[in-house]
Amino acid sequence: MGRMLEVNNLSVYYDNLQAINNVSFSADEGKLIGIVGPNGAGKSTLIKAILGLEKSTNSGISAFEKSIKKARRQIAYVPQRSLIDWDFPVLVEDVVMMGRYIHLPWYKRPSKDDKNIVTEALEKVGMTEFRKRQIGELSGGQQQRVFIARALAQQATLFFLDEPFAGIDVTSEEIIINILKSLREENKTILVVHHDLSKVEEYFDQVMLVNKELIGYGEVSETFKPELLSQTYKGKIKLFKDNDQMMVVGN
Ligand code: ADP
Ligand code: MG
Repeated sequence: MGRMLEVNNLSVYYDNLQAINNVSFSADEGKLIGIVGPNGAGKSTLIKAILGLEKSTNSGISAFEKSIKKARRQIAYVPQRSLIDWDFPVLVEDVVMMGRYIHLPWYKRPSKDDKNIVTEALEKVGMTEFRKRQIGELSGGQQQRVFIARALAQQATLFFLDEPFAGIDVTSEEIIINILKSLREENKTILVVHHDLSKVEEYFDQVMLVNKELIGYGEVSETFKPELLSQTYKGKIKLFKDNDQMMVVGN
């Protein structure tokens, strides 16, 4: 099984605040991985530091055995929706085309192939009829689908999504999770910061429990357990068993 990502001894400081403390892990190909932890646990920081968007100390981060810088065309990133300026005037199809620009030299315009890839990506997320709309006019779920389409158009191998399901409608959520599952079938690896604990078992193969440190990481069946969860949430959640299914309440 191919190694997709390797992170060694990653720490992040914001002035005096340590947001991430000495996190090491690796991810294999064909995995859908949930990153779970309370608000302020450093989940977004972890992703941004891996991508080199936030300064960190580490003893090596690589994707497909290359530096992140060399691998970045093959890595797609969908940031938290709240971090995006939705007033920026840009058409839906142009947002998706951004996924192609990463592959184009600065002097080249998108080719017919690039345009076809954009059309296909819009189709996959069910946003074809909105392609000429301004991104700011769409609902939260539709915006998220457009950003997923951009990641698809990039034809990446490794995907990072930060809370893609937060505040979106059920239809968009279903479309997106099905796309993520089909990417996994293509042996891609997808890391997803995720806040809804009730869906973890349904959505992910593996789960990473984060609260500044890596509290647990492994198969959902092994790692998504009350002991580790209460350690992650520091007792701020209630756990109970209902028909053999673990339910998690609160956050
Ligand atoms: P999560 O995504 O798990 O909610 P974040 O990674 O956003 O957590 O934040 C982790 C911690 O770092 C929080 O205490 C947050 O307030 C702090 N933090 C995040 N970004 C910055 C920043 N740019 N400057 C200073 N502190 C930050
Ligand atoms: Mg976050």
